[in-house]
Amino acid sequence: MKYYDKLIFELSRKGRQGYSLPDTDWAESTVSIPDGLKRASMPALPEVSEPDTVRHYTNLSDMNFGVDTGFYPLGSCTMKYNPKINEEIAGMAGFQDIHPLQPRSTVPGVIKLYRDLSSALSAITGMAAFTLNPFAGAHGELTGLMIMRRYHICRGDLGRTRVIVPDSAHGTNPASAAVCGLETVQVKSLPDGTIDVGHLKTLLDDTVAGIMMTNPNTLGLFETRIEEIAGLVHGCGGLLYYDGANMNPLLGVARPGDMGFDIMHLNLHKTFSTPHGGGGPGAGPVGVAERLKPYLPLPRTDGEEPEENAGRISGFAGNFGVLMKAYAYILMLGRQNIRMAGPLAALNANYIKESLKDCYRLPVDRVCKHEFVFDGLEDRSTGVTTLDVAKRLLDYGFHAPTVYFPLLFHQSIMIEPTETESLETLDAFIGVMRKIAREAVEDPDMVKSAPHNTPVRRPDETEAARHPVLKFTDNRFNEDNYNRCGTGRL
Ligand SMILES: *Cc1c(COP(=O)(O)O)cnc(C)c1O
Repeated sequence: MKYYDKLIFELSRKGRQGYSLPDTDWAESTVSIPDGLKRASMPALPEVSEPDTVRHYTNLSDMNFGVDTGFYPLGSCTMKYNPKINEEIAGMAGFQDIHPLQPRSTVPGVIKLYRDLSSALSAITGMAAFTLNPFAGAHGELTGLMIMRRYHICRGDLGRTRVIVPDSAHGTNPASAAVCGLETVQVKSLPDGTIDVGHLKTLLDDTVAGIMMTNPNTLGLFETRIEEIAGLVHGCGGLLYYDGANMNPLLGVARPGDMGFDIMHLNLHKTFSTPHGGGGPGAGPVGVAERLKPYLPLPRTDGEEPEENAGRISGFAGNFGVLMKAYAYILMLGRQNIRMAGPLAALNANYIKESLKDCYRLPVDRVCKHEFVFDGLEDRSTGVTTLDVAKRLLDYGFHAPTVYFPLLFHQSIMIEPTETESLETLDAFIGVMRKIAREAVEDPDMVKSAPHNTPVRRPDETEAARHPVLKFTDNRFNEDNYNRCGTGRL
């Protein structure tokens, strides 16, 4: 155990201080705290010196894995490199030091940025107008569904309470529908991973509010019958919602608006240059077709409040810093280069797929877009599972891909390399994946007990979820307990 590989509480020594402040008398003179609210004893905080505190947290931060430390091929997440210049632009004082309640007349630059970014997103997606207010992809889904519901209600079409969602959909889709008070109905996928149009036809009637889809779908495959699907759903009076969290492969190549979608969201924190994965700020702008413009939520940068509006989904007009990064990113790439992102992401994904499909099982052998799904190792005789492969990858310094999603296959491993990786990185990853396939045959127990080189070994995930130990207690130093709760080391 390294000396810093401890909890901050373990470094505590009675009476040690990490700061010294000058004595003042302001606290006594101005603040009077009612007796009932005063604490009887000092809080049990760790007493640690400043250098020990700095080292503790710096060393902890070194244990993090991120896009800036290594390859992160997490499917359905678009973990691409985010240029640092966009962070600097988002930090410009003129923009950062403003307040959301400032009078409109004092922030013309902000209003221009909103307008320009909205029209750039419209040009990229083929939607007529955008709201930049939602704070995340799932928040955008909820906003979009509120627009959908409001549209039906305003037309007096009150019986439309069902939303069709494919069985391969991202979990947020049915969850957002439920939060919006709508019922979800599942449409099946065909063995090739695309929507079963025959099954879809049986679900369409005047109770359908709309369908939520993503294209390319969760297997990274393009829904080639999208125009027919749009015709069918519109024919029964429903709307088409596009989950554009993974817009990366379509950038500059194809537009949801042209495919017949009426409402969509984007994840700026996946496709448009905001780092994500640690729960940081995001943005999920929602775009709509021309006839749905009046239903966009409040507040609006044009100051209008049409009666049909879907309501207020945020106090202010979005996460401005994230919007600025997206704007800078789009301008930096420009009309020409933005067209390169999607095809390069698809090329990288297909390169990995073709280089590995002899040792990993490829259930749908088609040209993919930005990502694809293997169904575990080709050789099933070793007992080595997708989880073991994912854990072993950590030993080689790669983040694991998404595993056991989508649920269509038992051993799903979903790989999305993105367009920002070099050929050398892709080749290194392919080399390691092939090596793990060999190790699975030669020394399966070693792979099944991986990772061997990480600060945290293999925690008991079920136990950690059922009985999480979230508080510091002395009995936590019992080694058993430590490994069980997943924060220990071996
Ligand atoms: C990431 C993702 C979402 C959810 O986005 P959040 O910002 O995490 O809420 C929705 N749909 C798909 C397909 C996604 O990949």
